[in-house]
Order: sequence, then C-alpha cells, then structure tokens
Amino acid sequence: MNSSPTAAPVKVSCSQCKWLRVAPWQARITGCFHPDHMPAKQKERSLDEQQIPGDHRAINRRGDCPKYEAKPPRASLWQRLWN
Ligand code: SF4
Repeated sequence: MNSSPTAAPVKVSCSQCKWLRVAPWQARITGCFHPDHMPAKQKERSLDEQQIPGDHRAINRRGDCPKYEAKPPRASLWQRLWN
C-alpha cells in the first residue's frame, strides 16, 4: 500500500483476490468467500453447498476492500504435473 497521505489510494480488484471464487468451477455461486463477508458459512467441507458467499461487487464497489489479499502466484506447469 501507498503510505503517502497525498497519493491516490490503490484500487483493488476482486478478480485478483484470493477470496473470490467463480461458478461453476470453484463454487456453486460466484462471490466473496472471506469469512467476514459471508452471510452463511460452514466449517465442514462436506457442507460447502450450503455456503452463501458475499456480494463482492457491492462490498468492493469503490475498490477499497480492506480484506483484499492477492492470489498466490500460479505454480509452473512442471510443479502442477508433479505435485
Ligand atoms: S470483496 Fe474484498 S475480500 Fe472479497 S473478493 Fe473482493 S477484494 Fe477480495
């Protein structure tokens, strides 16, 4: 983040955030899966279907979501094949 008080704030994008899951591949419903933003969450992995993600467009409307965390870099093809 930029520490200068006069500099323009850095905008964050949900598409670059590790908490966004996209339907149908990553989740049943597209949305924000940060625990603080979910209206209904389950601890058990088997109950994933019952989870309701937060509306990422509403939460991050101004691009200043404080819970943003950048996605980890993608593993190389070699790492994905052998791990
Ligand atoms: S709303 Fe915030 S935490 Fe959720 S996906 Fe967007 S930037 Fe990430």
